[in-house]
Parts: sequence; structure tokens; C-alpha cells
Amino acid sequence: MLGLMQDWPLRCHRIIDHAAMFHGRREIVSRSVEGPIHRTNYAAVRANALKVAQGLEAAGIHVGDRVATLGWNTWRHLEVWYGILGCGGVYHTVNPRLFPDQIAYIINHAEDRVLFTDLTFVPLLEKIADRLPTIERYIVLSDAAHMPDTSLKGALAYEDWIAGLDGDYAWKEVDERAAAGMCYTSGTTGNPKGVVYSHRSNVLHSMAALQADMLGLSSNDVVLPVVPMFHANGWSLAFGAPMIGAKCVMPGARMDGASIHELLESEGVTCTAAVPTVWLMLLQHLEETGGSLSTLKKVVIGGSACPRAMTQTFQDKYGVEVIHAWGMTEMSPLGTMCSLKPAYAGLAGEARLDIQEKQGHPPFTVEMKITDDDGNELPWDDKTFGRLKVRGPAIAASYFKGEGGEILDEDGYFDTNDVATIDAEGYMRITDRSKDVIKSGGEWISSIDLENLAVGHPDVAEAAVIGIAHPKWDERPLLVVVRKPGREVEGQAILDFMRGKVANWWMPDAVAFVDEIPHTATGKIQKTTLREQFSDYKFPGQ
Ligand code: ADP
Repeated sequence: MLGLMQDWPLRCHRIIDHAAMFHGRREIVSRSVEGPIHRTNYAAVRANALKVAQGLEAAGIHVGDRVATLGWNTWRHLEVWYGILGCGGVYHTVNPRLFPDQIAYIINHAEDRVLFTDLTFVPLLEKIADRLPTIERYIVLSDAAHMPDTSLKGALAYEDWIAGLDGDYAWKEVDERAAAGMCYTSGTTGNPKGVVYSHRSNVLHSMAALQADMLGLSSNDVVLPVVPMFHANGWSLAFGAPMIGAKCVMPGARMDGASIHELLESEGVTCTAAVPTVWLMLLQHLEETGGSLSTLKKVVIGGSACPRAMTQTFQDKYGVEVIHAWGMTEMSPLGTMCSLKPAYAGLAGEARLDIQEKQGHPPFTVEMKITDDDGNELPWDDKTFGRLKVRGPAIAASYFKGEGGEILDEDGYFDTNDVATIDAEGYMRITDRSKDVIKSGGEWISSIDLENLAVGHPDVAEAAVIGIAHPKWDERPLLVVVRKPGREVEGQAILDFMRGKVANWWMPDAVAFVDEIPHTATGKIQKTTLREQFSDYKFPGQ
């Protein structure tokens, strides 16, 4: 017997319809790429998205065709995002921080047909355009007054383009399992791989992410997604904010501490989200200027481990709650968030920070397990490390064009390539990416734990721990440190600071100082490059 409920396919454009209908005057405020602050609202974004859909269809974009964007977080990017998926196309957010060769690779691999670009990236595209045969036309996200003289094929100013359309269009009624968007993983090893989101997966994921124990947002919130729409499906905020009618503040191209602080304060932001490197810049700015965070209630930090010291500073000094989050492009992307369940809600001080250092527990829609290398499940005892595997309706089943082959185990779980522990309350803690784990005397040392500890030293700006070959132990940890500007701390002082806080045999054998630690296009420490840099390194006395 079937249920007698309506069949209401979970299509992403229903989200912007809902926002326009019930939260139509709620604002979207952006720092435009041209400079000034721009204000619009959900009703107007929807109206322009309909024009985008109409224009793309007139340009021959059919259901399933990929349309690329190379853009910062602005209202125009939001209009284009909904316009593309609204005509049955697939938004493909390209990360402009990738190397030009990688950008060309993924545009070709996705076979994008139209490309929307911000002004910032026109020079970059001009250099690679002759290697992008599938792109039929470029649309520059600006107006006629700012339009550069460009060699890009058929380049049009976005505002001129939509001015010629009336928006008399009905969203394409695709199957809810149809592709809506795609995003490539940054491919720290091998070529980037395409993750393809469906309408259904995006809708379910956004609903799960909004739950009170997850992002916990409401129509009264003012959200500033610093995390770019091109990073891991924009952490789904381009769906989440309109779904509940939160005011949305878009930072455009400027993500430095001063610019973000200005927006946080001037727009009354209550919740913001980004990777730790962004918050490092904001906290440094606040330290230098003595600024405060007067409206911000919650900061979501993920993409890399959030150091304990960062959580402590936000909470104790600025009164802002930290929500540690973990996820990946393949998971749409949110996997776990570290809100406090009853078992932990009463904790304070160091005990509370101990929990907040974990990446947290999953929402309904994410199933999790840890296994050994042979696939045997490991206990949730907070101690045993294992390969972290996940399953759910917004988790990749395969990569675009079958790259990488079969990626699920026999029970349908996807191996995240992260190594983690899980405690009895279901809180997961990442100890490493599997390829970064340090194996010493047959045991694993967590590089993330050591890094988090080292950045707690007041003179340390950033720290990375890598394994260095060792004749007796196979590998031993080397701590690589960037000092804060003007500080002269020595290695021994940092090691003394760390001693006693981790097992003795985990302690780094040495400290090396560098001016800069290399980062990936998504702000993670680039351990492969760092390992190459230190490939000839020998520990003192070796
Ligand atoms: P990319 O691989 O393209 O850089 P992703 O955002 O998909 O971008 O990366 C996902 C990976 O980032 C995870 O598998 C994990 O290794 C790491 N990661 C994400 N959030 C955290 C976190 N809170 N703590 C530790 N690692 C994290």
C-alpha cells in the first residue's frame, strides 16, 4: 500500500520560490566586485534568476548541460546559480584559486558550455580561452560601464544581457534526481574529480544542515558566508539562507580581516562560516585594532581542524560561540557539527574545549563508521583510530564520468580518506588525512593534534607537522612553524609549551621555522609540498 501524499519533487528552484514568496523583502547585501555595497532582496534575485534561465534556454542550454561560474560570493552569483539550475542546467562552480592548468582541465572535463565570470578573472580566462573549446560564450558579471575591452568569445555584460529579457519563464520541471550542480575536489593527489549534486540531494542536505543542532539558523539570522560558493557547494548556504529567509551578506572579493569585520558590524551579522585561515586574519585584525564583535553569535569553522586556541579566543574574548564543522565536497559538504548534546551541554572551561576540538556528530541523513584497513568496524571508544566511512542521500555515489572507479564499499559506504575516532556519544574526531598520518614504531601519531597544540603558543601564527624518515622508528614528527610577526620564539620554548599535553612519544623531534606554510586552493595546509620541501631534512644528530 502506498502513502496517499502528494508527489512534490525536491527541486532546488522551489527554495528561491519559497524565499521570494514568504521572505521576499529580506535583504541580500553584497560587497560588489566593482567596490560599492549593493542591496537587493529574495524577490528580486528570483526575478533575475528567471531571466538567467530564460536567457540560457534561448542560448541553447538544455537539461543536463553544464554552465560554469568563476565568481565571488555576490548577489549576481546567486541569481546565476538559481538561473542555471532553474532551466535544467548544472551549475559548475570553478575555484579560481586553482592553477590555470587545473581550471582548464576541469572546464574541459565538465564540458561547460557557457561561462559566467567576475571582472577579476577576465585576464586569467583570456590566457586560457584558446584551450577551452567547449565554451560558446562568456558573460561578465558586471554592467556596461565596467565592461573591459576583452578578447573573450561573445563576451557580454551580465546586466545588459538580462536587461534584454523579460523573465516570463517557468522553471524546468526536471526529475528530483537530475543533476543540479557540480564541484570538483581540489585533487591534492591526481586530477580533480567532479562531484555531481542532484536537486534532491541539495534540498535534503540543506534541510539537514539547518537543524538546530547543526547550523541552527532562522529567519531572524543574518548570515555572512565567507566560504566561497566555489568551495564545496558553498557549504550549502546559497540554499540554506533562502530556505529559511535569513538575511544574507556576501563579501565579494574581499575576505581580509578588516573587510570582513566591517561587514560583520555594519550589517548586524549573527552567524558566519569559513575555514580557519580566514578567522586567523580576522582575529589578528581585531587584536591589532582592539575591535569587537557586537552582533555575531556563532561562527562555523571547518575545512581544516579548528585549533583549540581559536575556539577559546572567539568564545572567551569576543563572546562568540564556535561550531566546529567537518565535511567534504563529496558530502554536499556538511558531515558533522560540534553542537553540545545533553551529555556535554553542562561542561565549562577546558572540559568544554576538549569536546569542541572534536568535529562533532552528524545530522539525520549522514551515517558514519570507522574501520580498519580490512573493513572491520572499530569501537566507538574515543581512542581507536580508523578509516572514516560515510553513507547518505547527499553523499557521492561516484565521480563524474566514473573517474576513480567504484568508490563505495559493499555496504554502500564512501571512504572519506580521513582517519578518526568516535566517542560513545557519537562525536567524531579527525586525527589526520590518511596520507598525512605519521607512523612511528608501528603506532599512529596525529599531526592535527600536534598542530592544534603548537598554535596555542602565543608566538606561533601557524604550524604544520609532517613525518620525516627515521632509521629506528620509520617516521618521526617534525614541527614546522611560522612565527607571528615580530616574535622571536625558539623551537625549544614551543616544545616546552607542548610537553605534558600529549604522550611523550608523540612530541616532535625538532622544530623548523619558515616564513610561510604552503596552502591549497581551499585554504588547507599543503602537506605534499611541505614534505617535498623537507625531503632532504635530517633530525639534529642524525
Ligand atoms: P578539497 O579536498 O577540495 O580541499 P574539501 O573541503 O572537500 O576540499 O576537503 C575535505 C577534507 O577537508 C576532509 O576530508 C578533511 O580531511 C578536511 N576537513 C574538513 N573539515 C575538517 C575539520 N573540521 N577538521 C579536520 N579536517 C577537516
